Amino acid sequence: MQTEIDSLCEAAASFHARGYAFGSTGNLSVSDGKRVWISPTGASLRKLTPERMAEMDMDGLALNGNKASKEYPFHLAAYRNSFSGARALVHLHSTWAVALSCLEDLDAAAPMPVFTPYYLMRVAPLAVIPYLRPGSAELAEAVGEAARGHDCVLMRNHGFVTLGGTMDEAVDRAEELEETAKLFFLLRNEKLRLLTDGERAEIARVYGRK
Ligand SMILES: [Zn+2]
Repeated sequence: MQTEIDSLCEAAASFHARGYAFGSTGNLSVSDGKRVWISPTGASLRKLTPERMAEMDMDGLALNGNKASKEYPFHLAAYRNSFSGARALVHLHSTWAVALSCLEDLDAAAPMPVFTPYYLMRVAPLAVIPYLRPGSAELAEAVGEAARGHDCVLMRNHGFVTLGGTMDEAVDRAEELEETAKLFFLLRNEKLRLLTDGERAEIARVYGRK
């Protein structure tokens, strides 16, 4: 697990350096299927170290003296239910994804059109869950439900969760989601060429995602 915990700390610093995370927002975790290592409460992602990670079991029982992010319940719910057997989670309040999550007329079934094959390969289908108080049991339940069929979940008026088999995979998804949301706003009033059904089918055939 040490390698994955090191990857988590590197990813956290990189997210902070690039403006994906600011203040003490954002939290990341990795799991071995029995235990979870999650970033500590109130901490900036700027300089996390493996020693500062809060370790807990899948029921939320603390296994060391570090206090986990108050958003830990949705991490546990996501791991318990993940259809893909996720072992890593990224949660950010990054600007463009949060902007997307605040649109009143957001289509929960298709929050963004498919502009690029990478969105299709790494993010879609993107689940959308309603606004629920950060840290609440209701939010954990909604994220857990979404994880039954999705690796990427947009949380209304809040941020997003991406899941992966490794931290690198969860990070790839997070970056793709944030950058696609940025493109969405840049192109919102433009006439767009979207991927055709045939092009989408080809991606599904070659890369196994639809
Ligand atoms: Zn949050």
